[in-house]
Amino acid sequence: MSIIERYREFLPLPDGEPIVTLGEGGTPLVPLPGLSERLGVDVRVKLEGSNPTGSFKDRGMCVAVSKAMQEGAAAVVCASTGNTSASAAAYAARAGLRAAVLVPEGRIARGKLAQALVHGARVVAIDGSFDEALDIVRVLVDRHKIALVNSLNPFRLEGQKTGAFEICDELGRAPDVLCIPVGNAGNVSAYSMGFTEYHQRERAPKVPRLYGFQAAGAAPLVSGHPVERPETVATAIRIGKPARGEQALSAMNDSGGGVAAVTDAEILDAYRLLARTEGIFCEPASAASVAGLIARVGSGDISPGELVVCVLTGTGLKDPDLASAGSEGLIRLPADYDAIEDAILS
Ligand SMILES: *Cc1c(COP(=O)(O)O)cnc(C)c1O
Repeated sequence: MSIIERYREFLPLPDGEPIVTLGEGGTPLVPLPGLSERLGVDVRVKLEGSNPTGSFKDRGMCVAVSKAMQEGAAAVVCASTGNTSASAAAYAARAGLRAAVLVPEGRIARGKLAQALVHGARVVAIDGSFDEALDIVRVLVDRHKIALVNSLNPFRLEGQKTGAFEICDELGRAPDVLCIPVGNAGNVSAYSMGFTEYHQRERAPKVPRLYGFQAAGAAPLVSGHPVERPETVATAIRIGKPARGEQALSAMNDSGGGVAAVTDAEILDAYRLLARTEGIFCEPASAASVAGLIARVGSGDISPGELVVCVLTGTGLKDPDLASAGSEGLIRLPADYDAIEDAILS
């Protein structure tokens, strides 16, 4: 069931107004038996890569693009590390709106760029960072009747909070801990809204501790100041000046959790562990949540037996170059039985 069918009463979408939906939400919550046993906690992962364009951004884009339609916008625009542009392009195509996206040149995973292009968005690659791209689109939407669909747009968060609802509904309770990667800090803010709202409406007995994880080379919320040249293999969270940083920091701290950094090596270890031992292929940015979980259990912040949900924000198929670079590679052989038998069994 899409978030619209299931949670419309929680969303700012009046009846009778146009809705732009691709069936987002309803993503699997999958236990990780191997990692749970190793860490002594009960770990589940929320597979947000199962959304229509392969990331959680679709939950927010559904509401943001529906609102843009209702408000009569002629086009939507965003700055993006990749997934926002893929999602905006798809929802705009569905709505019959024009889409324009600004991306940092050379820093965006190949699958995401392909999506924006195939959906017919106008894609502009700038010689600059995500943060510079966002500054530019903010001026553009001030001057023209174009809707900004970055997570500065409050309707994005309204849609994304439904991830928290689904987790509570499926577990029959709130988890003890939520682990989530943090870039612009929109999604962790949205989960905080969702858990809080469910708690207030007495659908969940408590709010989980929220632990957000940034990449060590792009960790402004950990260091307390913007990062001029953010650098990480996890391109989706390569952000030096999070648009919703302050809101997210209070949400994480008030919940009893907090923010921490994980290194690229830890991220890639978690990425490979998920793929090789749990059968789950996610983006490197998504694996930051599991890398962070492993570190927090190690430091004693998460206790034995606690129920932990890690949000795996996007599918690994987005970044085929990184995936193949870290694998063993092809074995090339002639079509000869003996040679093949030897290669397979050796
Ligand atoms: C956008 C994105 C994030 C970061 O979300 P924020 O709301 O910017 O904190 C993490 N992982 C993936 C795969 C993303 O696309």
